[in-house]
Amino acid sequence: MRALGSLSELIFPVRCLGCSVLGIEICSSCRTLWSRHIYRTESSFDGRKFPIYSSVKYSAVASKVIMKSKEDALSIADNLIISSLDHALTYFQKEIGSGFLVPIPSRMSASRKRGRKYINRMVEGLGITPLDVLSHSRAVRDQSTLHAADRIKNLDGALFVNPQTQKIFSKSDPAISVIIIDDLVTTGATLSEAARALHAGGFHVLGSVTACLAKPVR
Ligand SMILES: [Zn+2]
Repeated sequence: MRALGSLSELIFPVRCLGCSVLGIEICSSCRTLWSRHIYRTESSFDGRKFPIYSSVKYSAVASKVIMKSKEDALSIADNLIISSLDHALTYFQKEIGSGFLVPIPSRMSASRKRGRKYINRMVEGLGITPLDVLSHSRAVRDQSTLHAADRIKNLDGALFVNPQTQKIFSKSDPAISVIIIDDLVTTGATLSEAARALHAGGFHVLGSVTACLAKPVR
C-alpha cells in the first residue's frame, strides 16, 4: 500500500491536498483552514464526564486531509494528522495529565482494506507505542454515514477490552490512566463507547485527544 502511494506521488504532479492546485502539497489558503488551535469539549459515559482536546476544526480541507491519510496513507496527510494530535496532546498532558494512549480501533474490514491499523499508526507517528487494548465485539456500520441517535445505537456495547488483557491490567493499583485517541470527534458517541469499555476493563479514563473536531450532524 505504502509503496503504491509513493509511486503515484512520483508519477502524478504534486497537487494541493485540499484544493488540487498544482505545484504544492498544501497551499497557503488550505493551510489557513488547517491551522492548529486548541478546542476543549467533553463527552460522558454512565453520567461520568470526560474532557476531549482537539486541534483543528473540521472543514472541506480537513475532510480531504483525513481521507488522504486514512484511505491513501499519503505521507503529508499523515504528518498533518500526527502534528495535530501532538498539539492537542501537549495541552491535554499539561492541563489534565498523562496516561497511556489507547487508539480507537478501525472496523476490521477497514483495517484489512487499508493494510494498516490507522489510529495505531498515527500514535506511533508521535513516537509513542499505543496501548492497543480495545477491540470490536461485533460488526459495526461506518459511523460517518449515520446521524447522532443511530451512531449511539450502532456503537452500544460494540467495543471491549478482551478478558486476557483485562486480567493483566486489572492487577495494577491504582488503575492505569489512559487517553483515548481518534482522528475526529463528531457526536462523541465513539469516544463514549470507548470510555465505557475501558472503564469496564479496569482502566482510569482521563479523557480523549483527537486531531479534528466537527459539529455534530443532527
Ligand atoms: Zn489548496
